[in-house]
Amino acid sequence: MIKKYWKDFLSLIYPNVCYNCEVALVEGEEKICLRCFRDFPLTHYHEMESNPLLQSTSGNLKVKGAFCYMKFNKAGIAQKLLHELKYKNNASVGLLLGEWFANYIKEDLLAADIDAIIPVPLHKNKQRKRGYNQSEVITRGLNKVTGIEVLNDVMIRTKNVSSQTKKGKVDRWQNVDALYMLENVKVLDGRRVLLLDDVITTGATIGTAAEVLAESEVQEIYLGCIASGK
Ligand SMILES: [Zn+2]
Repeated sequence: MIKKYWKDFLSLIYPNVCYNCEVALVEGEEKICLRCFRDFPLTHYHEMESNPLLQSTSGNLKVKGAFCYMKFNKAGIAQKLLHELKYKNNASVGLLLGEWFANYIKEDLLAADIDAIIPVPLHKNKQRKRGYNQSEVITRGLNKVTGIEVLNDVMIRTKNVSSQTKKGKVDRWQNVDALYMLENVKVLDGRRVLLLDDVITTGATIGTAAEVLAESEVQEIYLGCIASGK
């Protein structure tokens, strides 16, 4: 009882507020108030006949579908949440995003018989600096809701992007081929995999990762992201 009063007392001094509208949160709400939660700019991409996320992977025959949670608008809610996750050392937001996303696409994941989730890896230097791979944190939330296994040790990022951004466009494309590498590929045999990145902008990064993944004996690949500007 005293613990509860103490908690109420603390929330008077440090109220938990909605990341989006800053209204004080009530019990049962986490990070986001119910009103903002209901207003999430959901994409419904996976229900569309021409899924915008699949345009850049049309040459990859193993890619069968793509899921995206929210539309990425400047200063929009997806940007705010992902900013917390990536630059404010707030991994708990990533876990929640993964859980919410899982609830959004759960039936479709099960219908597609997806049996593994792979986070798009960060280069080890970048991961060390951030303390975690934000996409991996999101996959933990997905796993919590769906029970689908996360394969965190099959894909490696071999190059740090900062060494590439200085180069020209053509160079960059050639370089991108060697961005990812697979390890422990046996575990991929016959699997239906959801490849997950936090954000998809042009689709080039996840498209490259999907190409590398397709070289294994993986059966089907689905792309997933929390937000996309497409
Ligand atoms: Zn709100």
